[in-house]
Amino acid sequence: MRTQMATEAGRSTASSDDRALVGPNLLAVLDGVTEKPDNGCEHGVGWFADQLAAELLRSAHLGPAEALAAAIEQTRQLHGGCDLENPDSPSATVGLVQFQGDVLRYLVLGDATVVIDGKRGLEVVSDPAKHTAGADPAALGHALTGEVPLAEVRRVAILSDGAARAVDLFGLFDWGQALELMAANGPDDLIRKMRAVEKEDVKGVDWPREKISDDATIVYFDR
Ligand SMILES: [Zn+2]
Repeated sequence: MRTQMATEAGRSTASSDDRALVGPNLLAVLDGVTEKPDNGCEHGVGWFADQLAAELLRSAHLGPAEALAAAIEQTRQLHGGCDLENPDSPSATVGLVQFQGDVLRYLVLGDATVVIDGKRGLEVVSDPAKHTAGADPAALGHALTGEVPLAEVRRVAILSDGAARAVDLFGLFDWGQALELMAANGPDDLIRKMRAVEKEDVKGVDWPREKISDDATIVYFDR
């Protein structure tokens, strides 16, 4: 089994709010939602993504939803006196897979994407709705979850929306081709090819988009 990751900030002038996690039984991509002013938090989105990632690893012995709920609750405690009722309080989209015995479990909250290439074909899991993990574990009611027998899994990719746009916005590849590219050249090659297209359309004329380049992160696993 082999796991590779690639991550690149959307802008050279700001640090990325994406986080990639490669744990003993858990792979995940977290994408901190762009910080808004007056969000009631003295820590910031990068801090939030760091804490949520660390707590997720600490709870990796639990199932995906339970682990994320525990991570949200623990991170909530770490905020201290911040105003967590503020609607712009830091939050993140999450895509994760977990290996438990002979089963692969996945969870997607928000517009992260999990792609599973298995014996039954390709399964692409993502939710364009604006659901995120913030200060309230109740958000997990919106999570997309499922499981696949591990023996049927060939490859898995987890992508932040800034990376998945190579397929679902620019259409550079379909998902099958994207996985082939990652298998052959590594996930960094997908990000490289996407950045080249973004640079050719810096004004967002051919592909209208809010962020010309977004933080892009991929965790890729094959057997
Ligand atoms: Zn805070």
